[in-house]
Amino acid sequence: MSGRRARPLVVAAAVLAALGALAYAWWPEAPVPAPSRPASAYAAIDKIDVHVHVPMERAAEARRVFARHGVRLALNANGGDTAPGLLPYCHVDFARAEAPDFASYARDALTRCRERGGVGLKIGKALGLGYRTSDGRLLAVDDPRLDVVFEVAGELSLPVLIHTGDPQAFFRPPTRDNERYDELSAHPSWSFWGPEWPSWEDLFAAYEARVARHPGTRFVGAHFGNAPEEPERVGAMLARYDNLYVETGARIPELGRHDAARMRALFVRWRRRILFGTDVQMGREGSWVLGSAGAQPDPPARIPVFYETHWRYFETTDRRFAHPTPIQGDWRIDGLGLPREVLVDLYHDNAARVFGLDDREAAPGVE
Ligand SMILES: [Zn+2]
Repeated sequence: MSGRRARPLVVAAAVLAALGALAYAWWPEAPVPAPSRPASAYAAIDKIDVHVHVPMERAAEARRVFARHGVRLALNANGGDTAPGLLPYCHVDFARAEAPDFASYARDALTRCRERGGVGLKIGKALGLGYRTSDGRLLAVDDPRLDVVFEVAGELSLPVLIHTGDPQAFFRPPTRDNERYDELSAHPSWSFWGPEWPSWEDLFAAYEARVARHPGTRFVGAHFGNAPEEPERVGAMLARYDNLYVETGARIPELGRHDAARMRALFVRWRRRILFGTDVQMGREGSWVLGSAGAQPDPPARIPVFYETHWRYFETTDRRFAHPTPIQGDWRIDGLGLPREVLVDLYHDNAARVFGLDDREAAPGVE
């Protein structure tokens, strides 16, 4: 393309970009609902959030926001360094799974990460739905070549926060009658409908096989054990595997749709195995994604109601209230009204025990 023709295009693109930025800044946003109660209405229990995403350059700001909402310590799925109030998960690069030195690479990476303050190993849904082997197939969650990763995590006392699969609706046709249609329209790459993808059931079976294969390794099933649509199934898995825990990240909307009495019984029965997590994501530019968002990030003005809706779900018996992540779907949720001692386990004690955080919390510089 000649310079003479390129220039007007560049100018037009710049004008459009500027207009877009103005529209984003000035366009009236959907009104943000106010919290329904003052923060003092909820239990004053220090929280540990086991599932956040914070870029290191925004660690101080994240800590202030978390602290304002009672989250004293957060475990950073992005990895990175140790910072006040923020401890990193370790990562393993599964793109190297077929390299002859994969076992020693994985052992070294985890050992060094542990020495630098890593408290767990985070595995995202790309294992099972992203990484491919040289034959073009997806690398399976239970591929035996990866066994070393999970064995070493156990040896090093690094619990594995593992996200496998995705909401069951993402495996159904992304059509208007899909209840996650809005979310899938904003993020077409989240659809796993079609012959090129494994089924939700196959992914879940591989995740279960992984948990079963490493009884000496603690697993924290992300997003309520990767099956918030089927809480009884999660309960059955907790009964089968003593090394399994689950966290609540980004699944209050799904959990809150189930019968509240059934869910309350599950949370009480498994009170030592369910950990508090939000999956709150902070962008590099300071944007926020509160569980999930549409094409644009969430307005920061929604942060207080996002947190409040968690406390309201766990602590009150309110019925039919709006859930914390509107893009996930148009339904209302019912609160659990958990007893205080169960809340202490959920919000704090389970995470402290499973991740060995008690002395870390008391460390200088970590309030
Ligand atoms: Zn996450």
